[in-house]
Amino acid sequence: MSQAKETILVTGGAGYIGSHTVLALLRAGYDVVILDNLEYGHREVVENVLKVPLIVGDINHRPTLDQLFATYKITAVMHFAAYIAVGESVKDPAKYYRNNVSGTLTLLEAMVAANVKQIVFASTCSIYGMPQQVPMTEEHPIAPINPYAMTKRMVEQILSDFDSAYNLRSVVFRFFNASGANPEGLIGEDHNPETHLIPLVLFTALGKRESISIWGTDYPTPDGTCLRDYVHVSDLANAYLLGLKYLSADGKSEVFNLGNGNGFSVKQVIETAASVTGREIKVVECDRRQGDPPILVGSSEKVRKILGWYPQYPDISNIVLHAWQWHQKRHGDNK
Ligand code: UDP
Repeated sequence: MSQAKETILVTGGAGYIGSHTVLALLRAGYDVVILDNLEYGHREVVENVLKVPLIVGDINHRPTLDQLFATYKITAVMHFAAYIAVGESVKDPAKYYRNNVSGTLTLLEAMVAANVKQIVFASTCSIYGMPQQVPMTEEHPIAPINPYAMTKRMVEQILSDFDSAYNLRSVVFRFFNASGANPEGLIGEDHNPETHLIPLVLFTALGKRESISIWGTDYPTPDGTCLRDYVHVSDLANAYLLGLKYLSADGKSEVFNLGNGNGFSVKQVIETAASVTGREIKVVECDRRQGDPPILVGSSEKVRKILGWYPQYPDISNIVLHAWQWHQKRHGDNK
């Protein structure tokens, strides 16, 4: 008997991690529908590269969701749509709670109404707050220190309650620093405004910025700058795929860290970028940025054991190289 192809709804599929995951889904043979309000997502990525149906709409708009579930035979949802700027979430928490929490609740209610009972959710390592031990495991205390992280924490709780009440099963990924780009240069990171370290360092190498600021050189780390666990976005996308397969094989709701288990300092990232690009990168040492933990490194033992996830690109040089190739293509080279 031939089986209908599974259609996966990807919210925020026109964004950074979402678009890489859509590509992975397509290559694994799934049909995909994207729901994205295009506030930060890129229509041209969907139309020119992904070539899947794009519903331009909001997760907060229930009629859009009901219509979507009535039109497509969705078997599972991958949920990426969210605001992600920590600083903005401190200044305008209402915007974050309304979109990230209330919007997700609307999505989940529409899923239950349409009898769609599997979701893979993009959470964040920032829900752990200040690290008490490193590497951080999933058992690390949860203590978000900003509204953005709190929205993710709240959704994790809602998901757990939806499983108990409505049998809606979820895989939650708490990812560390998503970075890099599709190795073939098809898609990459394209935030506006950009705040992340690797793209900003590469903008400096491209001559689009004068210098890169190092936010703090007096941390209790080997070279005084913060350590982060940079994970290749294509490796994240593969994990989402494994999470989906796990749910469709009746796996119970689980929460997994997604990190490489290796920390790289801000200075190491800049040195790597200098060597990958062959360019001098002007650095300005500044005061600490508020709310930055000195070290964020994740243990991914659980996801390796239960989902069999292994990062294909754990090496920071590859991550920076793929990002470099993408940014050169996307923004042009001023040097
Ligand atoms: N960082 C920096 N200069 C910048 C941007 C970031 O020194 O212009 C540092 C930041 O303080 C942190 C690390 O680079 O220690 C990674 O920051 P990013 O914003 O990329 O990710 P986060 O860890 O905040 O999610």
